[in-house]
Amino acid sequence: MNKTTLHWSYLNFKDVPMDLYLYEDLEEVYLKENFITTIPKWLLNVTTLKFIHLAGNNLSAIPEEMYLLENLEFLDVSNNQIRELPKTIGLMDRLQRLNVSGNELTELPAEIGALKQLEELNISKNHLQRLPIQLSECQRLNVLNLSDNVNIWHIPERISNLPSLQSLSADRCALFYLPVALSKFVNHVRIFHNTSITHVPMIYEKPFQTFYDNRAKVTPPAVTHDSFFWVLEKETNTRLLLPFGTRRIFCVPSLDNQVTLYDDCLRAVQYLSRYMPLWENVALKQMLPEKFIYNHIVNGPTARCTVLNCSNPLYTTYYFMAVKRRGSSSKQIFTCYFCSNHCANLWLLANGKKYYQLEWEVCED
Ligand SMILES: [Zn+2]
Repeated sequence: MNKTTLHWSYLNFKDVPMDLYLYEDLEEVYLKENFITTIPKWLLNVTTLKFIHLAGNNLSAIPEEMYLLENLEFLDVSNNQIRELPKTIGLMDRLQRLNVSGNELTELPAEIGALKQLEELNISKNHLQRLPIQLSECQRLNVLNLSDNVNIWHIPERISNLPSLQSLSADRCALFYLPVALSKFVNHVRIFHNTSITHVPMIYEKPFQTFYDNRAKVTPPAVTHDSFFWVLEKETNTRLLLPFGTRRIFCVPSLDNQVTLYDDCLRAVQYLSRYMPLWENVALKQMLPEKFIYNHIVNGPTARCTVLNCSNPLYTTYYFMAVKRRGSSSKQIFTCYFCSNHCANLWLLANGKKYYQLEWEVCED
């Protein structure tokens, strides 16, 4: 049986025509590039709908009751004037693809984390300042586009590390550094024009290469923060910002087993949190012995081991290396993060001919 689809794009509609009611078992409706200002309440009774394309209209809101379209899998409301998403969006539990690009959003509701089927999320071209950590509960998310949100300066590592994530776009944001806890399966990264980025983690070499020699002038970030951890790279006197949550780093070569028991514990707790998000576990929060541990758990790993076969999650302490390509005119500084001295040596053995190590020291202030 063929599904019923309505092609009503480019028709100068000012409202969604009620003729839509005449179509039985309607599953898909295209209403792109009209002049529609509201999604009418009656449309929410057409519960056979799986697909609604409303890009390029004059919508200023999505109705609270949108979740009544209980079979909706695809919603595109890009290029409208929507200012906020309803909290009830979390009830649209079949939604797989959501495109809200090109609107006036300043924040995303935390409830978005309830969209367990969500695979593609496009929030580009808005006025967002941060991503809600709850987005990390969308375990099926594999395409995330947040480009052109010029105030976003940090992608929470728990989000970049989502197990299904394959494509991450963050062109023209204000990123200070690239998240080093990047999902192992990411094969497409766009990060053009984030001019504060001073170094590229080695794990980005595979998914994205042309960026490296293409950098604009670096503007050091103006924001200060207690948790910032800087390293001074001595060859060019460049200050490198390391991931949030870093407390101590070790040079290579180094003694074995310097990573603390504290980090081993965090790693163990992390595995537990796959079954229940720890920030929802109040009892555990009160039991935890140290005041920072809860934050470290909520934020997730700060990085992953650069050795791909290892990819161990890293927390507050790790082995660190800054390198450059040998015999290359590129000024790009790459950074490597390792779970152990052993992994660092493995990496050097395999890559020492191509890269040389740079000296660094921790910036004290
Ligand atoms: Zn490792």
